[in-house]
Amino acid sequence: MNGWLDEAKKKDEMDALKQFRNEFYIGENVYYMDGNSLGLMSRRAEQSVLDVMEDWKRHGIDGWVTGERPWFYMSEKIGEMMAHLTGAAPHEVLATNSTTNNIHQTVRTLYHPTDTRYKIMADDLNFPSDIYALQAVLDDCGHNDGLVKVPSEDGHLLNTETIIGMMDESIALILLPSVLYRSGQVLEMEKITQAAHEKGIIVGFDLCHSIGAVPHHLKEWDVDFAVWCTYKHLNGGPGSVAGLYVHEKHHDKGVSLKGWFGNNKETQFDMNHTFDQAADISQYQVGTPHIFSMAPLLGALEMFREAGMGNIRSKSLELTDFMIAMIEDVLSGYDIDIVTPKGHEERGGHILIGHEKAAGINAALKSKGVIPDFRAPSYVRIAPVALYNSFEDVYHAVMILKEVMDGKLYEEFDNKRGVVA
Ligand SMILES: *Cc1c(COP(=O)(O)O)cnc(C)c1O
Repeated sequence: MNGWLDEAKKKDEMDALKQFRNEFYIGENVYYMDGNSLGLMSRRAEQSVLDVMEDWKRHGIDGWVTGERPWFYMSEKIGEMMAHLTGAAPHEVLATNSTTNNIHQTVRTLYHPTDTRYKIMADDLNFPSDIYALQAVLDDCGHNDGLVKVPSEDGHLLNTETIIGMMDESIALILLPSVLYRSGQVLEMEKITQAAHEKGIIVGFDLCHSIGAVPHHLKEWDVDFAVWCTYKHLNGGPGSVAGLYVHEKHHDKGVSLKGWFGNNKETQFDMNHTFDQAADISQYQVGTPHIFSMAPLLGALEMFREAGMGNIRSKSLELTDFMIAMIEDVLSGYDIDIVTPKGHEERGGHILIGHEKAAGINAALKSKGVIPDFRAPSYVRIAPVALYNSFEDVYHAVMILKEVMDGKLYEEFDNKRGVVA
């Protein structure tokens, strides 16, 4: 066992990103492994919130256009800061609304059904909110039978050939996840986009589980649009404002949800009743931006620029490699099933393990300071995060899991999920 501890310590010493851990608030004897649900708070995020509050205190209404962080341009500014995470140009990326709102906005804008081409493709494993939004758009457009879902053979993974095989002349638009929120599988975004375009289909991805964990090349791959939240790997805090990308070739289309913040900024305050749509991604805004829910991102995103997505991805893969290898060694024979694909090309930033007592195991882990999350009916998701987790954290998390299994500590907890799981 000590071999694993020695190896963890050695890896921590060589870790090129180790200084970032000190930037975060991490509880004592807490092994936080839930950064894919809610990233931890950093000192820089805290400071940027205080700075924005100070601007309000000092400038009042003039805070919209004065100071270092004028509110009027903050959605675009944070979009620019996120551009390198997506591989898109700064004028194609924006911070606005929530992920679900942004699905309504982008899909309703880019979906132009005809009598024969009116279907939207998603998948059986998708996050419910994405499906609700897609179904609502279809219902609105009189195509309530238009949702096509790619099936999964094993209930965990999707097959690229199956996805491509289902693309036909009846499909108008596709929305798929980049990384599946349960199994952690990464989809082959470039290949899927290329195949869809050959069939004349618009393609978008939900990057909620990949942004800040996996690099993207959306522009190079010619992806039409993408949406993501900023409170998971990007550490923007609960309910922080979401992101979206729309390829510039679509910026001449009239946005669906129109509001004065989607207007050309030069004429916005002319207060005309004719909508003068902004020329760039700014057009996707609707109403007044949620400044305090964007403020933490000003600080949090700086660290992604400094660390670099290549380094973040390398360390993330090393962390999950280490965790998988250790679980396979220390916990072999405990009926713990590693669901996440093992190949680097095939997995994102978290791993999913299965066990029939998963809810009890999750609760027992939390009682001992290890914070993963439970996914019904029998899975635990664990995300060691590159910016703030160490290899020693992973070591302790696995050793505590072993303690929970050896002592059957899960029997002390109900084997069911909480209100928020
Ligand atoms: C987290 C997540 C969401 C959340 O959407 P909100 O509108 O921010 O609540 C949506 N889709 C996926 C795939 C997610 O992982």
